[in-house]
Amino acid sequence: MKTEQLAQRLDRVETSAIRELFKLLGKPGIVSFAGGFPDSALFDVAGLQAASQQALTQDPGAALQYGATEGYQPLREQIARFMQAKGVSSLAAQELIVTTGSQQALDLLGKCLIDEGDKVIVEGPTFLATIQCFRLYGAEVISAPIDAEGVQVDALEQLIIEHRPKLIYTIPTFGNPSGATLSLERRKRLLELAVRHQVLVVEDDPYGDLYFDAPPPPSLLALSAQVPGSRDFLAHCGSLSKVLSPGLRIGWLIAPPELLAKAVMCKQFSDAHTSTFAQATAAQYLAAGHMPAALAKVRKVYAERAQVMMQALREELGDAVQFTAPQGGLFLWLRLTGAGGKLTDAATLAQRAIEQGVAFVPGAPFFSQHPDTASLRLSFATADEEKIREGVRRLARALA
Ligand code: PMP
Repeated sequence: MKTEQLAQRLDRVETSAIRELFKLLGKPGIVSFAGGFPDSALFDVAGLQAASQQALTQDPGAALQYGATEGYQPLREQIARFMQAKGVSSLAAQELIVTTGSQQALDLLGKCLIDEGDKVIVEGPTFLATIQCFRLYGAEVISAPIDAEGVQVDALEQLIIEHRPKLIYTIPTFGNPSGATLSLERRKRLLELAVRHQVLVVEDDPYGDLYFDAPPPPSLLALSAQVPGSRDFLAHCGSLSKVLSPGLRIGWLIAPPELLAKAVMCKQFSDAHTSTFAQATAAQYLAAGHMPAALAKVRKVYAERAQVMMQALREELGDAVQFTAPQGGLFLWLRLTGAGGKLTDAATLAQRAIEQGVAFVPGAPFFSQHPDTASLRLSFATADEEKIREGVRRLARALA
């Protein structure tokens, strides 16, 4: 075929610079801080083995048959319970649908909400796949500034007034890539903004369970009970990927009923339903009560690795980099300060770092507008403590 035969909308998205960089990761001996993955060594293999066995023993017909587009009912009930335990006071199983990862929930939202030329507001920086997905549906993706406390709500309100966006997309807790967490006060103000301007807020929350010392502020969904009318302007995407296993591809979407119904319709045309085997396994896993212990384990490991990485960065790079300590999640967001006349271009540093045997992702692609070329994302999740120290030493050599 000829490339001209491809749909024109594909011209709106480029293959990401990040994907190109990932091709280099196969180099032997490389220490990678680049991925957005959880550590596969931490997967609860025994728990999942037992759960999949149970799924096939107890309900083999359901686990291996076609299923409802909305999701496997026992899993919907378990997810509702999981969310209730995190402070969502009223949530019935039929108010959520199971999606094939939260990525699919984002895609369904794009499909159901975005018309050509619509504007949407995201955080700068934000999850790259969301920017790309919304652009594919024809959105102009406006970037709202963030700081250590998450999105700057005053600036956001100005952007809402100026652009009348179709939706606002936010990762309020341990953001990817920023690591930032929206303060409680800003969370409430964001919900008030949604009501005042009648604009849908999409809360993407795959990392909220991965806190280090103390739980983060309640999710926007949990807080919506305190801000009258805000639940009508809120969609929430959740995921088992970072806390249990991304390979299961279990996510969920909670949204106002008219939107949820359309998302179900679109999902029908897309994958009919999320893998029933994966859903039945996840349902058994949650019902068996394995989650709290599994979470306690990964929280502890990631907290230790984050500490080791921050300590190593302070020792090896000193004032050449700036960062805010994340309170959870998988990522550390750095800025190159240029102190001592050192490099401030993260893309150039990424190339030199690969030569030194360490990989990370430059920050610029995570911005839909006004890219910060001095920023970069480091993941502390997948390398053990010794590798983290070695990787940071290599990073220091690349910057020297
Ligand atoms: N949202 C954010 C912010 C993410 O970082 C990711 C995964 N990297 C996803 C959504 C998608 O995750 P999944 O589809 O595995 O649930």
